[in-house]
Amino acid sequence: MNLQENSDEVIRLELGEDYPEIRDAVRKICEQFPGTYWHKLDSESAYPTEFVKALTESGFLGMLIPEEYGGSGLPLRAATVLLEEIHASGCNAAACHAQMYIMGAWLRHGSAEQKQKYLPGIADGSLRLQAFGVTEPTTGSDTTQLKTRAIREGSHYIVSGQKIWTSRAEHSDLMLLLARTTPLDKVKKRTEGLSLFLVDMREARGNGLEIRKIDAMINHNTTEVFFDQLRVPAGNLIGQEGSGFRYILDGMNAERTMIAAECLGDARWFIKKAKNYSKERVIFGRPLGQNQAIQFPIARAHCEAEAADLMVRKAAALFDGGKDCGAEANMAKLLAADASWHAGEAAMQTFGGFAFAKEYEIERKWRETRLYQIAPISTNLILAYVGQHVLGMPRTY
Ligand SMILES: Cc1cc2nc3c(=O)[nH]c(=O)nc-3n(C[C@H](O)[C@H](O)[C@H](O)COP(=O)(O)OP(=O)(O)OC[C@H]3O[C@@H](n4cnc5c(N)ncnc54)[C@H](O)[C@@H]3O)c2cc1C
Repeated sequence: MNLQENSDEVIRLELGEDYPEIRDAVRKICEQFPGTYWHKLDSESAYPTEFVKALTESGFLGMLIPEEYGGSGLPLRAATVLLEEIHASGCNAAACHAQMYIMGAWLRHGSAEQKQKYLPGIADGSLRLQAFGVTEPTTGSDTTQLKTRAIREGSHYIVSGQKIWTSRAEHSDLMLLLARTTPLDKVKKRTEGLSLFLVDMREARGNGLEIRKIDAMINHNTTEVFFDQLRVPAGNLIGQEGSGFRYILDGMNAERTMIAAECLGDARWFIKKAKNYSKERVIFGRPLGQNQAIQFPIARAHCEAEAADLMVRKAAALFDGGKDCGAEANMAKLLAADASWHAGEAAMQTFGGFAFAKEYEIERKWRETRLYQIAPISTNLILAYVGQHVLGMPRTY
């Protein structure tokens, strides 16, 4: 399918099972990590080390890193296929997806020296870039109000403050950190004066950086991070001081499109499970799925997933074609998160009491997919974006 962006440019959009070689290889890897593996990790709040190792060794986690730095330099669409297949197989990419979506801001704005120093290690798996420190306890979605300060002192920045929900911090060597370098009352616009840093947590832990695990509803290895006069070399500043907010926005369209692909994978997993169970389970002398109250929510979730799939493909195609895809990336995230949640609800209702039995995996996936209504960006803030930036309505916040 071709997307006619304007009279002289056409963006190509593949339908069907694109990247079949990636899909096949990912499915084979995921077969080695069945529900019992995830169930055990979930009950122990443990990190899927073996799963991440298998993906790293296959080279998949370096797929967005340019070839000159040891990656495979593939387009965003390839990454969405990878993440969708992981989730459609019943696995969860949350332990390692940040490496791919954090990359966006850094690839565009990091210096050649920074890339040469870190990217080859990230590509071969010897270095982990999985932590992204943006959200703070007192300011939440209102990112520009964040309180963590970074003050330049000679060859270093001194960082003090706190982040919350910094996922995978205990399983990452590097963190991309957003901190305020110019106080709010000294900038013209609230989006100015924020800066992006690459923090080497191997050196920082115990020297001004403390990490505390959060006991959460899902096994997301998420943490609180405390900075107390942490010294970060000035060479680890990404791009220009004060432009960090703009840099993270650059990476967000890719992030939203990738997360939407995970939601889509979840939706496909729930729909398959619910469909199969509804055909096998016989109650009142007939298959459950013969009842419209069971069949229709599953069918509706399928329709929603198919529509979301088109939007994910459109967002990725525009991104890969170098076009603006803010509207499509946000809409893909919203539509796919809704599709996965509705599919999860349909699966819960179809499995009835058995949905609550952990061995069926429905309740775990249901908990996991609920996250996407809230993080990494909440449904409300996407609607605010669409209202304001797509429909031209008044800003709501
Ligand atoms: C498991 C998990 C993992 C996470 N991982 C990371 C991570 O790795 N790095 C990171 O930086 N952050 C991470 N987050 C944080 C996540 O991005 C935030 O939770 C999310 O952005 C919402 O912020 P908040 O929780 O502070 O909610 P708040 O900002 O307090 O908002 C609460 C609710 O009110 C709604 N709301 C807020 N303002 C408005 C408005 N103006 N209009 C309408 N509704 C509004 C929100 O949509 C939300 O539903 C994670 C969160 C979770 C739960």
